[in-house]
Amino acid sequence: MEKRMETTQHKQLASLLGRLPLVHSKRSDVQEQYAIRSAGHFGETTTDHFLQYLHSEEYHVIQDIRLFDGIQHFQIDCLVLTPFFLLIIEVKNFRGKLIFDFEHHQLFRIFEGKKETFPDPFLQVEHQSYQLKMWLDQFNFPEIPTHSFVVVTNPKTVIKTYGPDPEGRRKRIIRPKQILSSVTSLTSIFNREYWDFPQIKTAASRFEKENTPYRGRILEKFNLTIEDLVKGVQCQKCKRFPMERRRDHRVCGWCGFKSKNAHLAALRDFQLLVGNEISNVEFREFAEIKTEYTARRILLENSQSFSGRTKDRKYKLKPDI
Ligand SMILES: [Zn+2]
Repeated sequence: MEKRMETTQHKQLASLLGRLPLVHSKRSDVQEQYAIRSAGHFGETTTDHFLQYLHSEEYHVIQDIRLFDGIQHFQIDCLVLTPFFLLIIEVKNFRGKLIFDFEHHQLFRIFEGKKETFPDPFLQVEHQSYQLKMWLDQFNFPEIPTHSFVVVTNPKTVIKTYGPDPEGRRKRIIRPKQILSSVTSLTSIFNREYWDFPQIKTAASRFEKENTPYRGRILEKFNLTIEDLVKGVQCQKCKRFPMERRRDHRVCGWCGFKSKNAHLAALRDFQLLVGNEISNVEFREFAEIKTEYTARRILLENSQSFSGRTKDRKYKLKPDI
């Protein structure tokens, strides 16, 4: 299993924090969102640690996948493919006390004296499993049962349940350490093989191919425009702006760090914060590059295509610069 990548949203928030002036009024909002996303990321990596114990010959693990069911997109934290069933894992990384209310389909979180209400994760995973079935139908995969777990990652979180539980949901709330034993005991319950290994392999590559990670418009989300951002090339060592240009490299006036490709980070920031298409003028303004020639050279190296004539040409950036 590959190491989990940071989500696009997490990268966008990090990049935005890097380019928002320290005194900007929206900075604390962005910082708060970044902290929440970082906690979520940590929770998921804790889960990944235990998922690694699932032998890869029998199981295939796919993380953080976003698919289109024909009507809308849906996102699954973790999907385990087995010959017997598909398992949806929803990761909850909350501190404090969690109360799952089976009677009214709600989730309460009590933390630092505050009580908050969240949507029922079981309704969520049940809808996801319906969407997953629709998705599999689109590609004519043979039928296979689905099952789901809600994994509570923080070992200090207190778990309580409330209300009648005829569908056995209580047993589907587990800790990361229980993942392996829970999956193993499930395979003995679903004792028929629906998919063989070649089918699992085909499905796995189809999942990867159809995955469309979410890249929302982050500036709009915080009611910001490109004007709010600090321009120039950021020092990758001390994170200050700007790095000054020398003949064939840039140097940080604060810490003395030298780099030959520091401008790439600026291009990556533009891609994460503004969009995937950029013109020569836009790049020069954003990264404070003096000559059109230098900007063109960098853009050509990092684009997959371009459109328009020389003057108003738009470069379509490579997915991973
Ligand atoms: Zn520096």
